[in-house]
Amino acid sequence: KEGNLISLLKAAVKKIELTAKNKDQHLNCLFNPEERIPVDMDKDRIEQVILNVISNAIKYTPEGGRIDIDALKRDKTAVITVTDNGIGIPESEKSRIFERFFRVDKARSRAMGGTGLGLAISKQIVEGHQGTIQLESREGRGTKVMITLPLSLKKGIRNIE
Ligand code: ATP
Ligand code: MG
Repeated sequence: KEGNLISLLKAAVKKIELTAKNKDQHLNCLFNPEERIPVDMDKDRIEQVILNVISNAIKYTPEGGRIDIDALKRDKTAVITVTDNGIGIPESEKSRIFERFFRVDKARSRAMGGTGLGLAISKQIVEGHQGTIQLESREGRGTKVMITLPLSLKKGIRNIE
């Protein structure tokens, strides 16, 4: 199953841009909308990952914040980055962020809603596609999530499907 990652990103942005707008945030799409990045993927699941990561950027960035979304082809992979200038993640919590139900600052995040499963599920989906998901963050400055997906899957490796 091959799909164009750029089309998928455009569709995902369309689905979530009103949520951003309601927080006076702009989803800044840096990728070339005309480009084709063909990726072997389960489109519904990769869309779920993209929506998870963008919704985190919206949720953990104050009103008026800026969220950059980029995607490019690098060697035999596609690289997606979502960068926000929000509250960031303290260094001491960073290693736990992909754990199920883990949320920084329980009291504050309870008010924001969510279960703490978004990144754990996203990681599982990305790894099921033989890709990686990485996060860089500075508390009070912002967060950058980088997802790398191979354009074509290696055979003989058990994927999530
Ligand atoms: P869910 O995604 O299940 O609705 P959630 O957003 O709390 O809930 P995750 O997406 O797994 O859960 O994220 C885990 C925790 O990582 C969040 O609670 C938040 O503390 C932190 N986090 C994730 N993304 C960001 C971000 N862009 N900026 C700051 N903190 C973040
Ligand atoms: Mg989330």
